[in-house]
Amino acid sequence: MPVFNIVIFGKPGSGKGTQADFLKDKYDLYHISTGDLFRKNILNKTDLGIEAKSFLDNGDLVPDIVTIKMLENEVLANKDVNGFIFDGFPRTYNQAESLDIFLESINQKINATIALEVNEDELITRLLDRAKITKRSDDQDIKKIKNRFNEYNNKTSILIDFYQKQSKFYSVNGHGSVDDITSRLFNLVDSLI
Ligand code: ADP
Repeated sequence: MPVFNIVIFGKPGSGKGTQADFLKDKYDLYHISTGDLFRKNILNKTDLGIEAKSFLDNGDLVPDIVTIKMLENEVLANKDVNGFIFDGFPRTYNQAESLDIFLESINQKINATIALEVNEDELITRLLDRAKITKRSDDQDIKKIKNRFNEYNNKTSILIDFYQKQSKFYSVNGHGSVDDITSRLFNLVDSLI
């Protein structure tokens, strides 16, 4: 299979991480979650983690300069793979543009951006449920959750247009059982590769 790079896109709680894991296994991709990378750095109290912590705690996006560098380092450290699944990146116009330029510099590109569409009421329920299990600071209260939706609406949703203009944007219904959503994603990716 030629290199195939996917962006999995959606609001907080839409199931990006869960589904990225299934896609990774099925298509032998390398899964990069910027949220997981930040949380790992915070846990290990690295300089990056110390810098990012307050942003994650408040549900704000981490500044582009920090996030883009971290993402590029992770790609470069794992270059010999069948492809990447980017989960939680890009989240701003600047990140999307930087990603295109960076991938081009290593003879790669984004093949598809797949959005999981879930309504906000369902997302709030999912995130508050997840908070009980993971204890994630940003899932704990409704104010932080709403701030993350605002960040998405103000900074991330414009990327739909960015990828539509490149004819790379696909939308998948993110309601239903995990298995149903996985099947929808597999059907879509099978039709693209
Ligand atoms: P969710 O999609 O549920 O918000 P993530 O794990 O993807 O969860 O992200 C958690 C937090 O990590 C974000 O609210 C933000 O603070 C930070 N983060 C993750 N990815 C990015 C990114 N691409 N740009 C800026 N901040 C990010």
